[in-house]
Amino acid sequence: MAYAVPFYTHQRQYENIKVEMMEKFEQAMQSGAYVNGPMKTQLEKDLAVYAQTKYAIAVGNGTDALWLVFMALGLGKGDEMITNANTFFATAEAMWIAGATAVLVDCDPKTQCVDPVAVRKAVTNRTKAIVPVHLYGLSADMIEIRKIADEFGLYVIEDNAQAIDGYGKGFKQGELSDAVCTSFITQKNLGTYGDGGAVFTNHKFINDRVRKLQNHGSNARNVHSFGFNSRLDEIHAAILLVKLPKITAWTDRRIEIGAAYNKGLEGVKGFVTPFIPEGYRHVMHCYVLHVEDAAKRDEFVAALDAAGVEAKTHYSIAIHQQDGFPWGKDARLAGSLKNAERNAACCVTLPLVPELTDAEVADCIRITKEVAAKVFA
Ligand SMILES: *Cc1c(COP(=O)(O)O)cnc(C)c1O
Repeated sequence: MAYAVPFYTHQRQYENIKVEMMEKFEQAMQSGAYVNGPMKTQLEKDLAVYAQTKYAIAVGNGTDALWLVFMALGLGKGDEMITNANTFFATAEAMWIAGATAVLVDCDPKTQCVDPVAVRKAVTNRTKAIVPVHLYGLSADMIEIRKIADEFGLYVIEDNAQAIDGYGKGFKQGELSDAVCTSFITQKNLGTYGDGGAVFTNHKFINDRVRKLQNHGSNARNVHSFGFNSRLDEIHAAILLVKLPKITAWTDRRIEIGAAYNKGLEGVKGFVTPFIPEGYRHVMHCYVLHVEDAAKRDEFVAALDAAGVEAKTHYSIAIHQQDGFPWGKDARLAGSLKNAERNAACCVTLPLVPELTDAEVADCIRITKEVAAKVFA
């Protein structure tokens, strides 16, 4: 079935930028260098300028970006890192890949981002880092997180896989942390046609270590120390070189659609619309409604789907609720996780991509209201 309002429209975006994209592909193909070539180098320069950080390193994917930073900081066995239980799985997964203990805490019930009060309570003498996630496109409360990190001497690594181009009130991403990790998988706000990721940092030692770790522990021919292979391929760097200059315009369109949804759906019975704290640039990676009655959530999603709105859930199973958690890995649940569990039970994501037309946006609002009137009658 073709949806009246589809969730992803990657082909539409491709059609819009096809001519530029083909020229860049051709350039990448003709260069003869497909790994560690000029496109990656140029992209890293452009990313650092864009993010206003000293360094950017293009890596294989967003998960690698996280654990490469953890390893560059020497974090591993016996070390605890704190994040929220209602994030995408990869945040915790990266901690386990590094060999560390994932400490899961609750989120703030309004923003769904990590609750700084819960973070402070979770700190022990083994805690080494806080990994705030800018969930759905909304920056976590970095000012409070920075205070806690300073008080206890912790690293802060931002997971902004969902929030490139965003900022919070009084801070930009990267300003109050040691490193920022992002993902370029297709469905992210800045995505390639495949997998990709990046690390942003102002610390030379993090840049140097991540750069070596990603390249078989090597920064000179034939000279190696322990490392891995996680380099962004030239073809993906070429794609991102075409897309990067467009990210702010695409984000602005996302914000425009988010504002239209918030206005059009305000006061509808049965759910609450996303909360945007004043002064924050919420980049609307996911537009998430919260159903008041968790028991009606799945019925609401199914009814939206049947009516032509391709709704999804982000994420209906929190990390600690996954079957078999923690699979022999080191994990600790710190305090109540009731807000994170409620987020998992109540979340409903409406389609929101820059390529939606105004007519589709209007349809989405109309259909969502009609479906809500029936399901929450
Ligand atoms: C997508 C995502 C990642 C992982 O990125 P990949 O490129 O898929 O490895 C990490 N954290 C969050 C919050 C994400 O949304």
